[in-house]
Amino acid sequence: MSAVPTVKAVLLDLGNVLVFHDNALLFARLAARAGLEPREAARRLTGAGWTAANRGLLDAEGIRQDVCGALGVDLPMEEFAPLWSSHFTVHDAVLPRVEGLIGRVKLVLVSNTNALHVAYLKPLLPLLQRFDARVMSCEVGHVKPEPAIYRLALEKAGCAPEEAAFFDDLPEFVDAARALGLRGHVFTDAPTFDSQLKSLGL
Ligand SMILES: [Mg+2]
Repeated sequence: MSAVPTVKAVLLDLGNVLVFHDNALLFARLAARAGLEPREAARRLTGAGWTAANRGLLDAEGIRQDVCGALGVDLPMEEFAPLWSSHFTVHDAVLPRVEGLIGRVKLVLVSNTNALHVAYLKPLLPLLQRFDARVMSCEVGHVKPEPAIYRLALEKAGCAPEEAAFFDDLPEFVDAARALGLRGHVFTDAPTFDSQLKSLGL
């Protein structure tokens, strides 16, 4: 018998795992609307406001004001909200693989995200409602790579760290999970995800 514990939970990142997010495209579109160079828009947007939004310190209107303020434009919400979420594409290839895990392990989403992106993505990904839990940074007040968000996800999964496999496209977040004893895997693409699941006995 193997000494390696059985995997009882799979913890999954959202961005660049279940949905692709093309941030360069987002910055280019916002820049065009604000009459700025994309690089300048990116510079203005990747600061404190982004983190505040991920921590849930900004609601939808707060995000609109913060982003518009940084870009020097004032877009009404009905224009801003769809523009702010215009860079997502569902990762269709991975969804059946994730669906195949339902009922076999606890499935928990662990995402650094903001109120507007959550509102946009929930209807786009009905599969999320079949997860056992969804730990959204903006709803829990903690962001990856802080230990608190991983601990919360483990609590939702009801298992020990070594019984949980964590997948994220960002190695920094995988390293943080491993430091807490989770079985961390860098997510790259659907076929690799298959192999990783197989190696975990799933
Ligand atoms: Mg990601």
